[in-house]
Amino acid sequence: MSVFEELESEVRSYSRAWPVVFDQARGSWLHDEDGHRYLDFFTGAGALNYGHNPPVLKRALMDYLNRDGVAHSLDMFTVARRHFLTALKETILAPRNLDYRVVFPGPGGANAVEAALKLARRVTCRTTVISFTNSFHGMTLGALAVSGNAAKRAAAGVPLTHSVSLPYDGYEGGSPELLDHLIGDPGSGLDRPAAVIVETVQGEGGVQVASDHWLRALADVCRRHEVLLIVDDVQMGCGRTGPFFSFEDAGIVPDIVCLSKSISGYGLPLALTLIRPELDVWQPGEHNGTFRGVGPAFVTGAAALKAYWSGNDLEKAVRRCGERLAAALDEIAGTHNHAALTVTGRGLVAGLGFRRVSGVAGGELAARTSALAFRRGLLVETSGADGSVVKLLPPLTVTENELDQGIDILAGAVAAALRPLRP
Ligand code: PLP
Repeated sequence: MSVFEELESEVRSYSRAWPVVFDQARGSWLHDEDGHRYLDFFTGAGALNYGHNPPVLKRALMDYLNRDGVAHSLDMFTVARRHFLTALKETILAPRNLDYRVVFPGPGGANAVEAALKLARRVTCRTTVISFTNSFHGMTLGALAVSGNAAKRAAAGVPLTHSVSLPYDGYEGGSPELLDHLIGDPGSGLDRPAAVIVETVQGEGGVQVASDHWLRALADVCRRHEVLLIVDDVQMGCGRTGPFFSFEDAGIVPDIVCLSKSISGYGLPLALTLIRPELDVWQPGEHNGTFRGVGPAFVTGAAALKAYWSGNDLEKAVRRCGERLAAALDEIAGTHNHAALTVTGRGLVAGLGFRRVSGVAGGELAARTSALAFRRGLLVETSGADGSVVKLLPPLTVTENELDQGIDILAGAVAAALRPLRP
């Protein structure tokens, strides 16, 4: 028995799908300790948008460590923090005319979400937060209360309260007019909400995509009813859908934005909650935590913003590769039209959804596909409440050649998963 099995809790999950010991990584590739290499279309669940150990970030990190830069600083002023904030302002906020204050809420995505929920309630003096079917916002209790997945909710151990789930775009009845109607109707039973929290593309929820039109209508309802709009861009931000923020194409400006995962650019823990200046009502220390000043994450985060977001080359590459990926997935779906595969996505996030075929559940087919892809050297995870969607998150820096290699492996895995069921 390995030390992993001996010591680690049963709660571990990804190591079950990919039971090898990884050791080195570079760009789009992960290597295990036995010398096998894997094309990584999982990218740390979206924490490695620029691939593994990008040299430009590694150099900045090594320099910082070599000169004994401050590694940990809570929220004390440091040079690394200054560089990060300056880079955020100059490369992201100012060019987009966005006026946000930055809260460093603790290092994970759920920290960014908890801060957003807490602040929205504090500002509005209301408690209810609207979320959507199939949403995922994290594993802490506040974040779970606005997440859809029944199994994850059940693990909370306490009632999850002060939230109401409404249908997302594409779900039965999923129109922002419903929210408008419920808020306006004194008989609806809905308390006036503090906020709406939404993902523009539901990564964990099965790669469900909200249209720009739907997002604009939602933003409009929020504005009219003075309900705060929180966009959780933890997984879809930092260029995953093309632009830096996933809501840019819709032309909306959320009141609060949650970022984490790829914001450090290197897989180091860092999260931000961006808030409109008028919402900055917390007293000093009213919301805090220990890990709000991880120097190495500031350093790689600043270097990533400068290297990848000073121009729009990366955004263009993501859109171009995204179209190539979507076309290839459509082709795979067309090859197996008896299986009624669905293709969803935007930019470089894509989902291949499996329906039940010949009595085999979609979740089982997606899991088989992911396992077969792994054996052939490709990491892809499954998502959705029933696990029936194979989710692809290639690095945004993937080359066209690597993208084609990954697609070929996936096509072979899908064919092998469906072969026993061929009509
Ligand atoms: N929000 C979204 C949209 C996510 O996809 C995730 C994680 O997958 C989270 C929040 C939670 O982030 P973390 O796991 O870092 O707490």
